[in-house]
Amino acid sequence: MKSIYFFGNGKADGSAADKNLLGGKGANLAEMTRLGIPVPPGFTISTDVCSYYMESDNYPDKLKLQVATTLEKVEKIMSQKFGDVNNPLLLSVRSGARKSMPGMMETVLNVGLTIKTIPGLIEKSGDEQFVYDAYRRLITMFADVVMEKAAGIEPAEGESIREKLDKIMEVEKKKNRTKTNSELSVNSLKQLCQKFKVEIKSSIGKDFPDDPHIQLWESITAVFKSWNGKRAISYRNIENIPHQWGTAVNVQAMVFGNMGDSCATGVAFTRNPSTGENNIYGEWLPNAQGEDVVAGLRTPNPINNLNSNNNSKRIISLKDHMPEIYNELDGIQDQLEKHYKDMQDIEFTIQSGYLWMLQTRTGKRNGFASVRMAIEMLEEKLIDEKTALQRVKPEQLDEIMHPMLDAEAEKKSKLFAKGLPAGPGGASGQIVFTSNDAEMWHKTGKQVILVRNETSPEDVHGMFASKAILTARGGMTSHAALVARGWGKCCVVGCADLQISAQDKTLSTNGTVLHEGDWLTLNGSSGCVYEGTIPLKEVDLNANIHFQKLMKIADRFRKLGVRTNADSPKDAQTALKFGAEGIGLCRTEHMFFDPERISAMRELIIAKDKNNRRKAIMKLLPHQRKDFYGILKAMAPHPVTIRLLDPPLHEFLPQEKNQISKLANKLHVSIKELNTRIKNLHETNPMLGHRGCRLGISYPEITEMQARAIFEATAQLVMEEKSPLPEVMVPLVVTVMEFKHQKEIIDNMAETVKKETGVTFEYLVGTMIELPRACATADQIAKEAEFFSFGTNDLTQTTYGFSRDDIGGFLPEYLDHKIIPVDPFQSIDQEGVGSLVIMGVKKGRVVNSKLKIGICGEHGGDPSSIHFFHKTGLDYVSCSPFRVPIAKLAAAQAILID
Ligand code: PEP
Ligand code: MG
Repeated sequence: MKSIYFFGNGKADGSAADKNLLGGKGANLAEMTRLGIPVPPGFTISTDVCSYYMESDNYPDKLKLQVATTLEKVEKIMSQKFGDVNNPLLLSVRSGARKSMPGMMETVLNVGLTIKTIPGLIEKSGDEQFVYDAYRRLITMFADVVMEKAAGIEPAEGESIREKLDKIMEVEKKKNRTKTNSELSVNSLKQLCQKFKVEIKSSIGKDFPDDPHIQLWESITAVFKSWNGKRAISYRNIENIPHQWGTAVNVQAMVFGNMGDSCATGVAFTRNPSTGENNIYGEWLPNAQGEDVVAGLRTPNPINNLNSNNNSKRIISLKDHMPEIYNELDGIQDQLEKHYKDMQDIEFTIQSGYLWMLQTRTGKRNGFASVRMAIEMLEEKLIDEKTALQRVKPEQLDEIMHPMLDAEAEKKSKLFAKGLPAGPGGASGQIVFTSNDAEMWHKTGKQVILVRNETSPEDVHGMFASKAILTARGGMTSHAALVARGWGKCCVVGCADLQISAQDKTLSTNGTVLHEGDWLTLNGSSGCVYEGTIPLKEVDLNANIHFQKLMKIADRFRKLGVRTNADSPKDAQTALKFGAEGIGLCRTEHMFFDPERISAMRELIIAKDKNNRRKAIMKLLPHQRKDFYGILKAMAPHPVTIRLLDPPLHEFLPQEKNQISKLANKLHVSIKELNTRIKNLHETNPMLGHRGCRLGISYPEITEMQARAIFEATAQLVMEEKSPLPEVMVPLVVTVMEFKHQKEIIDNMAETVKKETGVTFEYLVGTMIELPRACATADQIAKEAEFFSFGTNDLTQTTYGFSRDDIGGFLPEYLDHKIIPVDPFQSIDQEGVGSLVIMGVKKGRVVNSKLKIGICGEHGGDPSSIHFFHKTGLDYVSCSPFRVPIAKLAAAQAILID
C-alpha cells in the first residue's frame, strides 16, 4: 500500500480528492501545492497507516524507509538537512483527519532541534534568541504531547507537565519583568530550557530526547495516538464522526513567523464567518508562531481595517504594515475561494518577507453567515441553486431564529464588561468556572455560562453543556470562538477587563465581584456582558433577506408539505410567519387547563351519569368553539387538523390534598367520594389505558361536544365569508370499528350543525396512525378514513415498548454502549418504526390512492426523519412553529439526495 504522499515545489502525489486517505489538511496541502501556491514542502502519512498502527501497535514494514527517502526530497527543496549540524532542517508534525476537528488532536513543532543542531541554526538565522525560543517551544510541546499524553499519563488538574512548564516560564518572566514570552533574553531562554528538562525528568522520569530521529518518530506516533485521546473521542461523539476513520500525519518543513520583525503568522477566513460579509476576515501577530494566535495569549492584530474590533482597532493591520504581502494573501484567498467554491479558513506564515500558506479548509460559520454566503455565492454565480440549498444545515436555521436580548431592556442594563462578539444571539445563565462544573450543573437542569480565561480543546464537553461561553482572552479565531461558532452558541471572547479566578471561583471587574452561581447575560452579537438576567426577544425574520431568498428556493424544490403543531391562534400566527401551510396537529387537551375550563372538565370526570356529564361538558362548548374559531380563522384557507381529546382523564384531576378538598367542596361531593373516584380512575399503565378514542367511545358526549364546537366555529366563519378547512382527527385507533364509531358521531353532528345554521361547509374526518395494529390494518381503516396522520411518538413508544416519559432512565446507557445509535423519540428508527410507517402508507394507498398522509409526531421537525418521510411518499410533515423553516429546508434537501 502507498503510505506516504509527497508535496512540494508545485508537485504533489495527492490532491483534494484524497481526503479520506490524507485527511483534510494533507489533501488540501497537496491541492494548494498543485495550484502553485507557496506551501512548505512535506509529506502526509495516510490514515491507513493510522488504522494499521492502532490495530498492530506497529508500523508497516517499509514505512521507515519510505519516510527517509521522502524526507530527502524535502531536504533538497529546502536546501537543508534534517539533523545536520551546520544547516539543520526543522519539521512540523501535525494531525489531519478526514473531517476537521479543530484543536482536538496534537501537533509538535520545531522537531529536529538538538544540542548539536542548535549552533547551526543560530549560525544560519543569526538569531540566537529565536533559536532558543523555538527550542523551549519544542520541549514544551514534546513533553506535553509525546511524553505525557501519548504515554497515557493522566495528571490531576493543574498538575500536567504543560502547566508545570508554563508556571516555570511565568516565574522567569516575572523575574525578568517581561510581559510576553518572546521578550525573554537569550540567557533566560537558555536557563528556561534547562529548567524544563529537569522538571520533565523529575515529573515524568525520562529525559527529553536529544536525537532528531527519535523526536520525529515519537512525534509521529504521538499524533496517531492523539486520535484516541479523550477529548478527540468526546468531540467525535458529539459530532458523530466515526471512530474508525483515523487521522493522517503531516510532516512538513518548518517555516518561521517568529524570526524577527519581517516575520508574522496569521489566520483568516475568505469571508466573515460571523456575518457572512464578503471580506477577507482574519488576525495576525508579528514575530510569532501559529499557536500564539489560536491560544489567545496575545491580542492579535486585524488583517485589514474593515475587521478591526474594539480590542484591536488601535493596532496596525497587515494591510498597512506589509501592503505587498497583504495583496499577495488577498490574491491567494480569492484564488482558493474560487477554486473550492466555498469560504476557506486559511493559515499563513510570513518568514523574512516571504508568504507561506500552511493550511486551507472549508471554514466553519454560524447560521447567519451560512445563509448569507449561500445566497451571495449563488448571486455571484460561484455556485448553483442546488449547492446553495445544501450549504446550510437545517439545524443552523435554529440560530437565525435564536432569541436576541430585548433591545430596550438591554439599553437600561448596566454594562459589566465588553468583549468580542464571537457567537450570535443572547443568553442568560449562572456562571461556572470549570468545564466539569458546567457539565455537572447542566445535568441537574441548570442553565450555565462557562467563564474561562481562555478555553482549550479540553473544555469541549463543558462548552457543549453551557448556554454560552465567556472568555477573558483570545480573539475571534480563538478556540472558544471557533467551537462556539461551529455549534451556533452564544459566545463572547477577549473580555480583557475581566479578572477570573478559577480557583476562588470568582469573576471581577472594576470592583464588582461575582461568584459561582451568579447570573450573567451575554449579547454574543455585540460582545456586551451584563450582570443578572435580561429578557430575550424573538428576531424579525422578515428583515433577513438572505433567509427569505433561501426559503423561496427551498419552497420551489421541495415536494413535502410543511404544517405545524399549534394549539392556539398565537402559535398558529407564529407558524404562518415562518411559512407553515396548515396545522397538522391541534391537541385539544392543551386547551383545558385554565381555571374555568379545568373545573368544568373535573365536573365531567366526577359526574355519575350521562346527564350530569352532558351538563358539565356543555360548559366547555363555548370555550372550545372560541378556540376553534380563532385557529380556523388564523389559518384559513389552510387546513387545520383538530384532534379529539386524547389523554387519560385522570391527568385532569387534582393530586394534592388541599386541591382535592377544594374540589370536593366546589362539586358538592364528599372528600371520600372524590378520593374513591380518583382511585378508580387510577391506571397502572395510563399510556396504554383509557385514553384516545377509547374516551370518545366510553363518553360519546365528549366527541359530540368537540365536533359541535368545531362545526359551529366553521359555520360562523363561512358566514363571515372565510374559507375554513377543518379536519377532524380521531386519536389512538387500533381497529376500524373504533374509527367508524367516532366518525358516525362526527358526521351526524356536522349534519345537525348544517341544519341548525343553514350553512354548508367542507370538512374531513381522518385518524391518527400511532399504534402498530393500526399500521397492520391500515387498508381496512383507509376504507373509512379521509386522511392518516402518523403519530410517531406513540408509534415509537408502542413499537419499542419504551415509555416515552421514562426513557431517560436508561437511554444514556443505551447510547453509551451503542445499543441504539440515537434517541428514537428524536430521530425516527427507520428500520423498525419506519417499516411500520411504510406498511401503513402502502396499505392505505392500495385502498385509496389519493389518501392524504402526514406525520405529526416530534420527528416531523427532525431533518434526517424528514428525508425518510419524503422517501416514504408522505404528503406533509407537521412540526412545532420554530422548526417550520428547518423542515422546509430539510424537505428541499431530501429532493437533492433522492
Ligand atoms: C404522537 O403520538 O406522535 C402524537 C403526535 O400524539 P401525542 O404526542 O399527543 O401523543
Ligand atoms: Mg399520540
